[in-house]
Amino acid sequence: MKIAVAKERAEGETRVAATPETVKKFIGLGADVAVESRAGETASIPDAAFADAGASVGDLAATMKDADIVLGVQAPEIAVLDGAKPGAWVAALFAPFQNAALVDAYANAGFEALSMEFMPRITRAQSMDVLSSQSNLAGYKAVLAAADTYGRAFPMMMTAAGTVQAAKLFVMGVGVAGLQAIATGRRLGAQVSATDVRSATREQIESLGAKAIFVEEVEGIEGEGSGGYATEMSDEYKAAQAKLVSEHIAKQDIVITTALIPGRAAPRLITDEQIATMKPGSVIFDLAAPQGGNVEGTVADQAVAKHGVTIVGYSNTPAHLPADASALFARNHFNFLNAFWDAETGKPELDEEIGDAVRLTKGGAVVNERLKGE
Ligand code: NAD
Repeated sequence: MKIAVAKERAEGETRVAATPETVKKFIGLGADVAVESRAGETASIPDAAFADAGASVGDLAATMKDADIVLGVQAPEIAVLDGAKPGAWVAALFAPFQNAALVDAYANAGFEALSMEFMPRITRAQSMDVLSSQSNLAGYKAVLAAADTYGRAFPMMMTAAGTVQAAKLFVMGVGVAGLQAIATGRRLGAQVSATDVRSATREQIESLGAKAIFVEEVEGIEGEGSGGYATEMSDEYKAAQAKLVSEHIAKQDIVITTALIPGRAAPRLITDEQIATMKPGSVIFDLAAPQGGNVEGTVADQAVAKHGVTIVGYSNTPAHLPADASALFARNHFNFLNAFWDAETGKPELDEEIGDAVRLTKGGAVVNERLKGE
């Protein structure tokens, strides 16, 4: 069983899909691991560290030659896989709803595409969930980036020259990233409030010491819905939310938006009109920037100034923390394959619940139910 890890080729991608730690663990299972030279460079992992862990380090052709499994952060173009075994598995992020052509190309090439973002939200798959591991770091980084852009301090400071007021930080969307944004804002000394459409988040917000701001007059999503994800809200709810946000946002210094709906463009939570009510010098970090943004006017990877407010959003926030993001991503990959490793055959055998959820292509066809419904 040969596992191959190529250098990421997508623009701005700094992560790598394996670390010396996971290389060692795969070798412990009996696999051979090949890593392309310089694959870990941008994540501060030198080739020598991979080699010391037992990987063979070489050029792309040597890395891919006869690979059974290819691990990636972002799914590579088909040409990168040249030399891998027919029917090889490729586990990575595919963004399947946005990348139909790539998924078709994997089917045509006969590879088995395993989409890590389709990992089901069930307890036993938590340690394999790259969306969670990466969102957590993204939520942290969003607050640091906003703090860096903000021309004032976060904590209240009483100095001989007078008092510095605490920053008011508002988090919109309290999933994995939002919870970490609340925690990070609190650690930095900001006064934090947060909102979500899922009522289950109220308790989570309050348990982190932040203030919960919720639409009261129209019902949100009770409980957790399907896999804990939000759905598109009614027009009535959206109107009530817009009113609530307008009232609250004018008093905020920092806003972090994280709202996502799987398979859809990000919901629009802040309009240009609402930005105009904010104080000059305020900062908005839009974590949904790669999915179209929660904020009107967001341009990924650019600081946009609107009405004296700076709107920031990265196209790939976890890539701004490459070492930790890679370490967690690599562990998610290992936990996934390890859970299904069959000691007798010396290779992983996926079950239906997880295998069918993540498998996009097999035997020359697109086989995933979520994509066939598109
Ligand atoms: P996400 O990235 O899909 O969305 C971020 C947040 O935005 C969510 O909390 C969502 O409710 C919120 N949102 C969507 N539309 C909104 C709107 N119009 N206004 C305000 N907020 C809006 O979510 P996520 O971070 O992936 O997590 C969602 C849930 O799934 C959480 O409860 C999390 O704990 C759970 N989860 C479970 C597992 C597991 O069991 N394996 C793994 C990860 C997450």
